[in-house]
Amino acid sequence: MKKLLKLLLLFLFAFVVYQSYLFIKGNPGLTDQFEYEINVETLPTELHPIVAEKVEILKEKTAEKKITILITDDYRSYEEQDKLYDKGRRTPGKVVTHSEGGESYHNFGLAVDFALQLENGNVIWDIEYDGNGNGQSDWFEVAEIAKELGFQWGGDWRGFKDYPHLQMDFGLTIDDLQEGKRPKITQLISEDTEKRSVFVVFFNLRNYVPIFNNKF
Ligand SMILES: [Zn+2]
Repeated sequence: MKKLLKLLLLFLFAFVVYQSYLFIKGNPGLTDQFEYEINVETLPTELHPIVAEKVEILKEKTAEKKITILITDDYRSYEEQDKLYDKGRRTPGKVVTHSEGGESYHNFGLAVDFALQLENGNVIWDIEYDGNGNGQSDWFEVAEIAKELGFQWGGDWRGFKDYPHLQMDFGLTIDDLQEGKRPKITQLISEDTEKRSVFVVFFNLRNYVPIFNNKF
């Protein structure tokens, strides 16, 4: 009987190890945070698929907290960025950005801007608004969830704070991106991986293996 128990434990252990292996394999960003490819020829023309998928997850997770977000801006071409940069400088209006074409993560499909949407459809940029009435600012709740998903938040920046701004740099600087480096698109985080992630959390490995911290 004892032998059977030992065998069972051994099997369980092997199972956990195997699941963890699958989890890491399914999340290439976890094992190699700075994996990129060099592609000088082309510029992206849309949101990076991993960023797009994370935005969808963000919408779902915020909805669970009764917060509706609206993505007001995602990919921006160099020309669109230049036009925006001119605002408040060469054209009328307030200055809205400090980045010219090619200087923003938006230009490489790696950033989005969000706002809050009320039930009546109105869109607001009030960072103190507590629509779900849980005593916390909805805006900061969104930022917190976004950061858990691997986004960097403009509200954390020193100096100029860009509260609506969320980006994923994949370890690449603007200089890197201008030189033609691009985050590698290997495998998207599938629902399957999410389930495995829950499995791993269940075994509390997160506390012991820093690699499981979902950052990339
Ligand atoms: Zn932005």
